[in-house]
Amino acid sequence: MNNVQQRVSVHTLGCKLNSVESSAILQSFVDAGYAVVPFGESADVVVINTCTVTEQANSEGRQVIRAAVRTSPGATIAVTGCYAQLQPHEVGSIDGVSVVAGSAAKANLRTLVEASRGSTSTLIDVDPTHDNMEYQPARYDADGRTRAFLKIQDGCDYVCTFCTIPLARGGSRSMEFPDVLRQLSAFHRAGFSEIVITGVNIGEYRSSSGERLWHVLLAAAEVAPSCRIRLGSIEPNTVRQELLDAVSQSPNICRHFHIPLQSGSKSVLHSMRRRYSPESYASVVRSLHNLFPLVGLGIDVITGYPGESHGDFEETVEFLKSLPWSYLHVFTYSERANTPAASMPNSVPVHVRRSRTARLRALAAERRHSHALAHIGTTATVIPESYDTDKGHWQGWSDTYQAVRFAAPATHERRPTLVACDSVIDDAVVVALRC
Ligand code: SF4
Repeated sequence: MNNVQQRVSVHTLGCKLNSVESSAILQSFVDAGYAVVPFGESADVVVINTCTVTEQANSEGRQVIRAAVRTSPGATIAVTGCYAQLQPHEVGSIDGVSVVAGSAAKANLRTLVEASRGSTSTLIDVDPTHDNMEYQPARYDADGRTRAFLKIQDGCDYVCTFCTIPLARGGSRSMEFPDVLRQLSAFHRAGFSEIVITGVNIGEYRSSSGERLWHVLLAAAEVAPSCRIRLGSIEPNTVRQELLDAVSQSPNICRHFHIPLQSGSKSVLHSMRRRYSPESYASVVRSLHNLFPLVGLGIDVITGYPGESHGDFEETVEFLKSLPWSYLHVFTYSERANTPAASMPNSVPVHVRRSRTARLRALAAERRHSHALAHIGTTATVIPESYDTDKGHWQGWSDTYQAVRFAAPATHERRPTLVACDSVIDDAVVVALRC
């Protein structure tokens, strides 16, 4: 590198895991003396960490890459993430892209960027076999030292027919337990108020010495007692009794669970090769609700999966209405290359997929409102995250994943604050008073 400090920016698409890994990538540039600039400002290196969960995600990835080329002509544009892993040549053919790094190469992105300098051809480092896919640690210290993310697991061994993640990220692999403990304790010492445990399929966490996710949770209560612990998305079939026991025993684990459902129809779940039935899913959700009546429960659902009949969709609607969830992420099915679902018969017309999505989103809006209302008259501990200078209030999240705002000066410390929930505005935001 010459004496002028090089500038790097990053743009992340897709899941929280990508955010965590982008942060690790940025850190590697910072360690080498680069200055970080916001994405959209002129930079010498622009990293784009892509997603491929839907065709829409690919298209967004292409738009972001083209925007980066326009803003920083002459920069080294490095594209990584799931879209880069699965469609390296499509990504590499976009004008201005210098480096395409697959999932295994993510950790060496800075080295690839520096190796590509002076070359007129695009450097593509993508291993389609996943042979090099070690567990790569990543952590993310969110702004303000309020929330940290710890990736304890990567990849997935399941074979859900619609999903490209195992193709993009390889099989399941886990962080070693002593490393988990060390990192939890480091976040605790650094003063974080919340630690989010992330991974692709965290319920399949398995250290080489036999620890499972519930051991991580029990240990977190000991080594990071003043941090609250939030779990990332967890597959319903992995919510075992040991996990429920650990959650009940550990007061610092957030009463918030995100449990993908995908469909409430038994036959659609079977076709998707999901590993649970509507009945077993309902039993998990009801157990959590019995343990924690105000629990924040997030659900993912896919509409318009091949063969999803009108009756199947109505079953999903009725199933959702019968359960005590609080928010819903609805995904309109889109065909993904090289997945079994993409070549299944009985494709659902796109306009039907979309109208089903709209119907579930309306249901989701009602439920968010009623979950907010259920907090009225209770107290909550909120970690203040953003300040509205005009209105003079802080907003943050309760452990039940309820958005809460309360009046306080801008100088109010960004530490957990006990509040009394008073009313609901903007459909689903609780207004509270400091206790
Ligand atoms: S559990 Fe299924 S949907 Fe989730 S990452 Fe694994 S294969 Fe994909």
